[in-house]
Amino acid sequence: MTTLRVGQATDVGLIRQQNEDNLLVAEPLFAVADGMGGHAAGEVASLAAVEALRSAFHANEPSMAALREGVRQANRAVWDRAVDDDSLTGMGTTMAAAALVGSGDNEVMAIANVGDSRVYLLRDGELSQITEDHSLVQDYVRSGQLTAAEAANHPQRNILTRVLGQAPDVEVDTFEVTPLRGDRFLLASDGLFGEVADETTASVLRRFEDPTDAAKELVRLARAHGGGDNITVVLVDVVDDGDRSGRASAVLAAEPPRTTEGRAGLLTSAARDAQLRELDSDAAPAPASTAVNPLAPDGSWTGRAEEVREPSRITFRVVAFVVVILLIAGAGLAATAWYARNAFYVGLDDERIAIYKGRPGGVLWFKPTLVEHTRLTTDDVAPSRLLQLRDGKVEPSLLEARRYAGRLAEEAASLEIPDSFEEDDEDLTGGSTSTSVVTVPPPPTSTP
Ligand code: MG
Repeated sequence: MTTLRVGQATDVGLIRQQNEDNLLVAEPLFAVADGMGGHAAGEVASLAAVEALRSAFHANEPSMAALREGVRQANRAVWDRAVDDDSLTGMGTTMAAAALVGSGDNEVMAIANVGDSRVYLLRDGELSQITEDHSLVQDYVRSGQLTAAEAANHPQRNILTRVLGQAPDVEVDTFEVTPLRGDRFLLASDGLFGEVADETTASVLRRFEDPTDAAKELVRLARAHGGGDNITVVLVDVVDDGDRSGRASAVLAAEPPRTTEGRAGLLTSAARDAQLRELDSDAAPAPASTAVNPLAPDGSWTGRAEEVREPSRITFRVVAFVVVILLIAGAGLAATAWYARNAFYVGLDDERIAIYKGRPGGVLWFKPTLVEHTRLTTDDVAPSRLLQLRDGKVEPSLLEARRYAGRLAEEAASLEIPDSFEEDDEDLTGGSTSTSVVTVPPPPTSTP
C-alpha cells in the first residue's frame, strides 16, 4: 500500500492581475491547470477543467483509463462552456495530472498532460521531466532545430500546439511510473520553470523535506526571479511503498557492481523498475497507446533478472565460453608461430651478409635466429641491394636464401669498380658508397 504526502502552493506572481492557474489535490488525484483567455476567461477554463477532471476520475475505479478519460472530460467541459458563452470564446487551459492507480503490487503513478504544464520526478536526488510540452518550441527541439536551452528563452516559447477547450475532443499523453519510497513528484505551471532553472528546483526539492515547505520555497524563488506569470506547484511525496523498493533492492543486491558511478545511479533506478515488473508478474501490460516511462526501459533487464535467479547456468556458460576462447587463442598462437618460423631471409649481421631463420624483426615474441654467414660483406654488394638486405630479403626456404646470396656474389664479381673512382668518390662525399650507384649494372633477371 503506497502512502503519499502532499504539498501545494499557488501565487499570482508579480506582473499578472489575476491568478488563472488552478490546482487540484483530491488524493489519489492531483493536477495543475494553467488557464488562458481574455477577461478572466483563463481562470474559468482552468477551474472548469480541474472540477470536471475530479468528478470524472472519481466516478470510476482509479486507473490509467480513468485518468485519461478525466482529462478528456475536462476538455469537453471547457469546450462546452466556451460554446455556451460568447464572452468565453477561445478560452483554454493546460493540464498536468497525476493519480495513484491500481492496487497492491500493481500500483502505479499514472500521469497525463496536455499543454506546457509539467510533471517532474525527483528520484535518488535526480530531477527528470516526465511530460513533454505541447508547444511550438518543443516541436523545434524534437526536430533538432533548437536545443533545450535555446527553447527555454525562445520568444515563441508561449505558443502552445495543444490545450484543453479548443475542440470537442483532445489527444492526451500518458505516462506510467512505479512509485517508490522517497520519490517526489512535482506538478507545476510554467510560472515556475519559466523562472527557476531545473537545477535550482532540484536543489530545493532535495533540501526541503516537508512538501509544503518545498512548494512555498519554489514559489518564493519564482517571484524572486521576476514572477512574470502565475506560479502553481503541487508536490506529491511517496512516503511508503509497501516495501516495493526494499524487495527490488534485495534482488538488485545480488547483481555485480556497475563500471562507473554515474551510470550506476541511472541504472539502479531503471533496473529497480525492471525488477518491480518482475515482482509484479501478474501485472497487466500497459495499453499500447500509453507512452513508456522514460525512467523504466524494459527488455534487456528482464533477461538480466533471469540470470540472477539461475547463477549455476551462468557458471557453466562462462566456463564453456572461456574454454572456447582459450582454444581460439591457442590456434591463433600456433598459426602465428608457424608463420613466424616458416621462412628464411638474407640480411645483415653488422657488416656481414647472413642467412636467418624466421621473419625480419620477428613476429610477436618469435625472434629470427642466425643460420649461417655468407662470405660477403656490405662492401661486396651493390648499394641498391643494401637497402633490401637491411630490411631482410625473405625466401621460402634455406635453399632459396642461399641462391639469393649466390646471386649477390655474382653481382659483386661483375662490378669491378676502379680504385681511383672510389677514392675520388670518397673525397667528394666523405666515404659513402651511396654515390657509386650510377656504376651498378641492373641485376640479372634470370635465375641460375
Ligand atoms: Mg502560465
